[in-house]
Amino acid sequence: MNSSAAALWIKQPLAIFGPEEAAGGLVVRDGRIVELVPSGAQPETPQVQVFDAGAHVVLPGLVNTHHHFYQTLTRACLPALDKPLFAWLQALYPIWARLTPEMHRLATRLALAELALSGATTVADHHYVFPAGLEDAIDIQVEEAGRLGIRAVFTRGSMSLSEEDGGLPPRSIVQREDAIMADCERLVARYHQAGEGAMMQIALAPCSPFSVTRDLMRASAEMAKQHDLRLHTHLAETEDEEAWCRKTFGCTPVDYLEDLGWLSERSWLAHGIWFSDAEVARLGHHRVGICHCPSSNMILASGTCRVPELEAAGLHVGLGVDGSASNDGSDMLGEVRQAFLLQRLTHGAGRVSHRDALRWATEGSAACLGRPDLGRIAVGAQADFTLCKLDELRHSGAGDPLAALVLCGGAKADRVMVQGRWIVEDGALPGLDLDKLRHEHQAAARALLT
Ligand code: ZN
Repeated sequence: MNSSAAALWIKQPLAIFGPEEAAGGLVVRDGRIVELVPSGAQPETPQVQVFDAGAHVVLPGLVNTHHHFYQTLTRACLPALDKPLFAWLQALYPIWARLTPEMHRLATRLALAELALSGATTVADHHYVFPAGLEDAIDIQVEEAGRLGIRAVFTRGSMSLSEEDGGLPPRSIVQREDAIMADCERLVARYHQAGEGAMMQIALAPCSPFSVTRDLMRASAEMAKQHDLRLHTHLAETEDEEAWCRKTFGCTPVDYLEDLGWLSERSWLAHGIWFSDAEVARLGHHRVGICHCPSSNMILASGTCRVPELEAAGLHVGLGVDGSASNDGSDMLGEVRQAFLLQRLTHGAGRVSHRDALRWATEGSAACLGRPDLGRIAVGAQADFTLCKLDELRHSGAGDPLAALVLCGGAKADRVMVQGRWIVEDGALPGLDLDKLRHEHQAAARALLT
């Protein structure tokens, strides 16, 4: 954390996605916002240094709530192209079973770099592939996020039902349930930070309710309650899933989760597409969070999340780029645009605006992670910001800067601040050789496929 006593005024931004009182910028000290500056005013905080944001649109830092970093090694993967979810997974599992610690490190480093350069200040990753030799997968991710200085929630994923038990993955990438729970305990004790300002958190995340047993789902919910952790999983992504669940358990995926103690504000679920109206009301009553992943849903033709209806019912809705085998880029600002386009197409121009899409990626995502200290411009909130310039050909002629950021597309982060410290400066990550990283990552992807 950059805890220098000096305060910094992010001065007079071109536009800001925040309250009117911050039109003249904001002052940051000790990793938090300490003052909002009205238009034309000077800060009351003494001895401020100045960052002139006159060419920047300032957003609360974008929060990505669902990803699988290791999948950057299998983007646009030929054996998996043009398949729906279950067939796509079965094509990829044998490849992912060969993942090594070094490959996973490079995949994590690259995904983090992509996310930061596209404006993310907080990232949640869902890692659930643990072949022999990769038991320290989450430890590797914690190290890489720490190196970059990005805020992270690493969800300890799990799969325990292999093909032999009626599941989808091969035996070589599933684990015993006692080993899974012991590792969750270890990771929480070692890395999880609680409360305001936390930079590193651990959440519990069976891959899906159908890739582990009922016992593991229940044990995860109990452990989450005991240690005050978040719970995460994939749910209601495809119609197949609901049909499978009705046939196997005689109930819908939502009924199944409720029975296992998962319906609470502690849970955020990736996708959340196939809910009945009555289920939406039930989920809203429990203030469950949904991570909307528009690109992934379109590529796998899974369906369309009903975001405005979910929000109206009381659910929290955030955004996620999802894993790179189903997106295939980790472009956070791009995902804001995708969400805007898909939801507007589905719900109409009068119901979905660019501001809604920005809100999902900031405040909505932060709510999914249980982090009121993130995703908003307010005194006391963490000093996490995404600053973008509108200086490319595609921006020329734009009227409203905030709308241009979403509507013109192709936006990148020029500056990214996390807890008061710049991690992206002038569109680059200081200290990280991106050419070298891309070369090494590409070689690792090739090795994984052969
Ligand atoms: Zn996913």
